[in-house]
Amino acid sequence: MAGRLKGTAVDVLSLTLQGSITPAEHVAEVLEVIEAKEPQVHAYITVEDRERLEKRAKEVDGRIRAGERLRLAGLLVAVKDNISTSFLPTTAGSRILKGYVPPFNATVVDRILREGGIVIGKTNMDEFGMGSTTELSGYGPTKNPWDLERVPGGSSGGSAAALAYGGADVALGSDTGGSARLPAAYTATYGLKPTYGLVSRYGLIPYANSLEQISPMARSVEDLWLLLDVIAGHDPRDATSLRDWRDMLDRVNVTSSRVCVPRELIDGADEPVRRSILHVLYRLEAQGVEVDYDVSLPSLRWALPVYYTIALAEAASNLARYDGKLYPLQYKAPTYSESVSLTRSLGFGWEVKRRILLGVMVLSEGYRDDYYLAATKGRRLIRDDVLKLASRCVLAGAVSPTLPPRLGERISDPVRLYALDVYTVVANLAGVPSLALPIGLYGGLPIGMQLMGPPGGERSLLSLGLIVEQLSGLRGVMAP
Ligand code: GLN
Repeated sequence: MAGRLKGTAVDVLSLTLQGSITPAEHVAEVLEVIEAKEPQVHAYITVEDRERLEKRAKEVDGRIRAGERLRLAGLLVAVKDNISTSFLPTTAGSRILKGYVPPFNATVVDRILREGGIVIGKTNMDEFGMGSTTELSGYGPTKNPWDLERVPGGSSGGSAAALAYGGADVALGSDTGGSARLPAAYTATYGLKPTYGLVSRYGLIPYANSLEQISPMARSVEDLWLLLDVIAGHDPRDATSLRDWRDMLDRVNVTSSRVCVPRELIDGADEPVRRSILHVLYRLEAQGVEVDYDVSLPSLRWALPVYYTIALAEAASNLARYDGKLYPLQYKAPTYSESVSLTRSLGFGWEVKRRILLGVMVLSEGYRDDYYLAATKGRRLIRDDVLKLASRCVLAGAVSPTLPPRLGERISDPVRLYALDVYTVVANLAGVPSLALPIGLYGGLPIGMQLMGPPGGERSLLSLGLIVEQLSGLRGVMAP
């Protein structure tokens, strides 16, 4: 690893603004790392062309010299491949979108470019975000840079792996049920699922609209804040985007000196994970943080079935648009309906097909009340319970019940795969912010911890996150 690349995005930013490094030099350095690591890791589906990157770096340099104050001046941003870019293909990890170049940028991408960020490439992911390991990509799996026989988590595994090996300064993921946080936990990186509505979803290829948020990923708490601050804010193009977001962020200030550990967010986690989290909590207590271990939110036991029912129902509706006519991949057949079904059956992977079938089932006449409606009621109970507790303390728990699984270990059995999300889906169902951050290594494998707050509580989470980051010493860390 080139010495200068160790560290955080804010380090790179200050070197750039001091003039110690130019954006073009930084691009060259990071491309060298990508060339060395990509053959084993495969974090990217598409890496931006060298000449175009050099051109963009010169432009940014010109803007810096002209005195423009750019919040991301020359930083290299890895963008998950379900976030639309008009200058690079956007596949959402699916063969059905092979060759698709959107006619517009996602709002978050425009905001990043405006602030001098450079999109270095589009990262690998489970097809349409449906998975927890990045093995379900239509373009081959991503490996965990900490151990190439293990998964980096998913579905934003490409973004996490790129950060973990130094192939980007910051990254965008998306999080429908844990997709930014699980990969963060498995790669010793940081991921923040924002409050629902804080970040525009315009240009995000949808999986389950009522649950998901585009999410910043990084190698430090400070870097997360830097990127969040650029991408957050009202967007008239997204009807669910919050209007009073600034006020909300300023108003909500849950005292980060009180932490609650609901049993349901840690019980059932493997021993190394549980022990590491408790160890951090004891150390926080030693620093004067009050920790309450005697808390229970019984409704969280239903989080996983409630989440999967709602997510699959929304997914089935969203994926109806891929009819083999609107997008480049089209298989010809004698009739219209044969061509639609041929394109869909060859274009979608098996997990996506499974989810479409289940999603259609839970919404169909005769089943809707027992499944979809029951799940929406369950969601309400979970949300009420989480909001009540989050108004008085930060919720802490595990991100994943296990250490990073080996490749192939989980995908053969969907129930074992879905079980990895047991602690993360809660924040999506409740619409609250959740931060995943590294707390240690066990046998060379990363372990993460999750902090959840009330809607708009991002600042409290990040300030508590800073203390945890100091305790762990895992700021700016990369895989060896
Ligand atoms: N693993 C979960 C799922 O497959 C969450 C994925 C995500 O957040 N996109 O639905």
